[in-house]
Amino acid sequence: MGRVIGIDLGTTNSCVACFEGGAPVVISNSEGSRTTPSVVAFSKIGERLVGNTAKRQAAVNASRTVSSIKRQMGTDYCFRADNRDYTPQEISAMILQKLKKDAEAYLGTEVTGAVITVPAYFNDAQRQATKDAGRIAGLEVLRIINEPTSAALAYGLDHATPQKIMVFDLGGGTYDVSLIEISEGLIEVLATAGDNHLGGDDFDQRLADYILEEYRREHKINLAKDISAVERIKEACENAKKELSTAIQTSINIPFIATLKGEPIHLYFDITRAKFEELTEDLVRRTEAPVQQVLQDAGVKASELGMVLLVGGSTRMPAVREKVRQMTGKEPSGNINPDECVALGAAIQAARLAGEASDEFVTDLILMDVTPLSLSIETIGGIATKIIDRNTTIPTSHKQIFSTAANYQTSVDIKVLQGERQFAKDNKLLGNFRLTGIKRAPAGVPQIEVSFDIDVNGIVNVSAKDLGTGKEKSITITAGTNMSEDEIERAVFEAQAFSADDGIRKKRFDAVSDAGRMAAVGHQYLKVNKKELEREKKREIQRRTANLERMSRRKAERLSDAEVDEILAEIQALQDLIGTGL
Ligand code: AMP
Repeated sequence: MGRVIGIDLGTTNSCVACFEGGAPVVISNSEGSRTTPSVVAFSKIGERLVGNTAKRQAAVNASRTVSSIKRQMGTDYCFRADNRDYTPQEISAMILQKLKKDAEAYLGTEVTGAVITVPAYFNDAQRQATKDAGRIAGLEVLRIINEPTSAALAYGLDHATPQKIMVFDLGGGTYDVSLIEISEGLIEVLATAGDNHLGGDDFDQRLADYILEEYRREHKINLAKDISAVERIKEACENAKKELSTAIQTSINIPFIATLKGEPIHLYFDITRAKFEELTEDLVRRTEAPVQQVLQDAGVKASELGMVLLVGGSTRMPAVREKVRQMTGKEPSGNINPDECVALGAAIQAARLAGEASDEFVTDLILMDVTPLSLSIETIGGIATKIIDRNTTIPTSHKQIFSTAANYQTSVDIKVLQGERQFAKDNKLLGNFRLTGIKRAPAGVPQIEVSFDIDVNGIVNVSAKDLGTGKEKSITITAGTNMSEDEIERAVFEAQAFSADDGIRKKRFDAVSDAGRMAAVGHQYLKVNKKELEREKKREIQRRTANLERMSRRKAERLSDAEVDEILAEIQALQDLIGTGL
């Protein structure tokens, strides 16, 4: 068996870690970043791009770029590209494949297994889909664990004194709060709540909207219609937001943002932390209700909390930290990078399961999580009758006896539902099956025992047994949206075929796309400086800009290594000439 890794497969960013030298460490990706954007793109020339490369070209290739695929896990959503539908599992597998590959490059050996984390509220179909994504990427999924549990592992809390802990996770696109309990060798998720549409992206958008509006007011120019300008503003706003987490003032400076009547225009903006906090105050306030809800669901007072762990890059914002302090009366933890601790915890768990961890990390720890939503079956009148209540610790199994509704009924349909609503139709149908061969008897006489089992990964198995005849039928819930064995196998094969030379593909694609971007910089430079430039230098810039423009139209997949080097040299030459780069 090869090595194992821990993966935080996030909505906006993913992170991978392994166990090295007796401790978990984050693995940088091939671009040198410690997190990888969870973005996949299908380029117009048949390339498959993942991570930073995909994110960078998103603005100009929006219809062929997929982000936030995690939101679609367990649904029947499909992304269509090049006359082919891709399931969320397959798209996620492309991200996992890149993480696996980067980990292999770092470790210098094959990676075969992984622990992958999911939000505590993920339902059965979402967990299954995540597991399938791992398989498609060529990974044996050793365990699916909940993100807050993983964060607690990273903090070594499984060895700590028994206590109740809040995990406050504000990422790029989602917000989750969980209450967990640590007791002797046991981590239990007591309750979870959150907002699936609140995260750092909303803060970037708020700042971008403000800047667009101010720019329109001051210069009478509406940049909002220019997709590329808006994308550049958003990127600059994200950077400014990050800077404002440590500085109290920063500036946004985007030269050549657009052209007006043939003249280039620039954007320059000063922004203070106070203004940013004023613009985003309501977003920070939206974190309150879920905190109240988990405390209430778990029956815990804020004063009883032992610690508050911060997870997710957006918890670096001082206003968010202050809000957490206010709500809990606790100083939140800060000694592990919030964007890395989930992956670190997963790496610890992976190492334990594979026997890679050192003694210090080997414990008899049992990871206990809870079902995020209640599980029921449909009974007469379309009522959802609960078998397992939400927030029940897993693994678990529950049984209940039901009977028939009509005289001499010989079969019953068992519909398995997930959700909190009273009527079956308002909950999510996880699956159904029919138990036949029930002994003929008047209504209410047959005894049908329905059992629900939820395993450590949160995957549900339901069975129904006629106690009169002993006839039994069961299903493991794989909702209709999940992939069949055959589909998974085909996807595994395709994914392997595609990963063969991703690195080389990426280098070629980047060279061609950078050539185009550098040619644009050259054109802008010529426009702005046309009067001052000496003839010779102007000619040289024109020549190199035209070369790059030509190079940007080349088919990336046909480039040889020498041709890639030639493009890179041309980009460098133009950069040296004009003193600005990409
Ligand atoms: P995650 O998905 O947990 O990696 O979180 C990503 C989000 O965190 C993105 O919206 C980032 O812009 C945001 N983020 C990362 N670093 C910072 C920072 N220093 N200050 C504010 N937000 C940050």
